[in-house]
Amino acid sequence: MARESKKARKERAAEVFDLLSEEYPDAHCELDFVDPFQLGVATILSAQTTDERVNMVTPELFRRYPDAPALADAQQEDVEEIIRSTGFFRNKAKNIIGFARGLVADHEGAVPRTMDELSALPGVGRKTANVILGNAFGVDEGVVVDTHVKRLSGRLAFTEEESPDKIEGDLMELFPRDRWTLLSHLLIWHGRRVCDARSPRCEACTVSHLCPSSRV
Ligand code: SF4
Repeated sequence: MARESKKARKERAAEVFDLLSEEYPDAHCELDFVDPFQLGVATILSAQTTDERVNMVTPELFRRYPDAPALADAQQEDVEEIIRSTGFFRNKAKNIIGFARGLVADHEGAVPRTMDELSALPGVGRKTANVILGNAFGVDEGVVVDTHVKRLSGRLAFTEEESPDKIEGDLMELFPRDRWTLLSHLLIWHGRRVCDARSPRCEACTVSHLCPSSRV
């Protein structure tokens, strides 16, 4: 296949975005949360597991620890017990308590609204900060690159990179800023429903005619 120009790639990316928006008009973050604190905690817990699994443990977690001051004072073992089924529970307990303590120590218990402040908090990397900014504050600061976004960006030839930061950079160049948050939801929804990791259902894919990896 001839090398695609930047302009052609941008046009193809815009078409993919429009078609996926039609396919998933309700695409949104599937973690349950009511405020930025809860979304931050849920996102930290979602590493290496499914949103459904996280949504099973957060009601009890937030009943016991409804805000940052409460979680900052929690006993590590008590938190571990509640979140055990999400896997890597010792590390995750440490991270969410650290996150809460950072909020209390530096932000009077509130969640800050900038990438720099968020990513300076314990347990918060660029991905978690992007999730919070995009979904709790409506700020398009970057593109969340999870396993689905990574896989689909490669299959759709939006990037040739492997590292999340570089993939994010390519996506930010390819799509207008006001689409960044929704873009990752669309790719995640498509990845979960059609473009499966092991057996993508290209025959049922609305963007197969725009996808260099299509098997149909
Ligand atoms: S055509 Fe196949 S590989 Fe390409 S996005 Fe669709 S399901 Fe995924």
